[in-house]
Amino acid sequence: MKPIQDIFPLLNKARRIVIVPHQKPDADAMGASLSLKFFLMQFGHSITIISPTNWAGWLNWMPGSNEVIDYDLYREKADKILDEAEWIFCLDFNAIYRTKNMTAKLGSLTCPKILIDHHQQPDEKSFEWGISDTNKSSTCEMIYDLIYASGHSDKFTTEMMDCIYAGVVADTGSFRFSSTTAAVHTLVADLKSRGLEHMHVHNELFDNFLENRMRFIGHVLMNRMEVFYEYNTVLLVIPKSDLLRYQIKTGDTEGLVNYPQSIKGIKLVAIVIDRDEERKWSFRSKGDFDCNTFARNYFEGGGHFNASGGRSSLSLEETVKNFHKALKENIHLLQ
Ligand code: 5GP
Ligand code: MN
Repeated sequence: MKPIQDIFPLLNKARRIVIVPHQKPDADAMGASLSLKFFLMQFGHSITIISPTNWAGWLNWMPGSNEVIDYDLYREKADKILDEAEWIFCLDFNAIYRTKNMTAKLGSLTCPKILIDHHQQPDEKSFEWGISDTNKSSTCEMIYDLIYASGHSDKFTTEMMDCIYAGVVADTGSFRFSSTTAAVHTLVADLKSRGLEHMHVHNELFDNFLENRMRFIGHVLMNRMEVFYEYNTVLLVIPKSDLLRYQIKTGDTEGLVNYPQSIKGIKLVAIVIDRDEERKWSFRSKGDFDCNTFARNYFEGGGHFNASGGRSSLSLEETVKNFHKALKENIHLLQ
């Protein structure tokens, strides 16, 4: 993978560009894709964002989200656009398989792919150019840096700033995770001085849900949460029946994993959700427990040191059993 700086002199020639976030894009993946699109559009490129899957409805306030193509729904149209692409930006994921149903298609294309990402252990050989920096709070911060590094800081627009700020807020847990560096606060100060309306973004991200999600959270914390004090661990297990009962949609479960972290002494929080196609795990830790390694070793996943995800094809019961086994094997790391 050659350094991303190599593309800066090439930005002025108009190209057909596709931007791809990871599957089920979150605020960082979507915010990074949209802000990069609005930036590149100013050079005359023709740009399409193709999401591997659907995304949370609460991201639809983001400017330009209505033009993002859902690969699961519009595969034929998307494949045609991909066939004609001259560059493909891959944002907020470290390996092509994180694009799920797009994996085979992306793998078959020979045009240069450009990685911008902050996850651990990127699959560098799949990308012509790129930047991978696990010290960055978010891919949105990396888009901000790229705009400056390429000498185009005059190109920030209100839309771009809203999207970048949303991704930074989401991936730093509202500026509390250790990834919140001085540079992150400097970024915010800079965006504020350029006219960012941060309350608007917070409102859209956090105060825009339906009643059912609130009731669902109450139900989960009351009835689906187990605390294992000997492991300093909390486990949330969500059966399919809960998702149906509360009419839970993509994105409604996001953030749930953060609540138990407020219990004194808890080092690891795990949540498993019984989705149609798989059992999906999320892990969050505080301090020196490595969620990335844990997800890789036990649940076919990965991510960051303090936040990762994984999956299982087993039944909910079986995968929970495996989690208990994994806890036993990791007890020394959880003290
Ligand atoms: P979340 O729990 O919010 O879905 O994901 C936490 C972090 O882990 C995110 O940065 C996400 O991209 C990453 N992640 C989630 N699931 C997986 C997975 O199955 N494989 C890998 N490599 N990373 C994942
Ligand atoms: Mn991210």
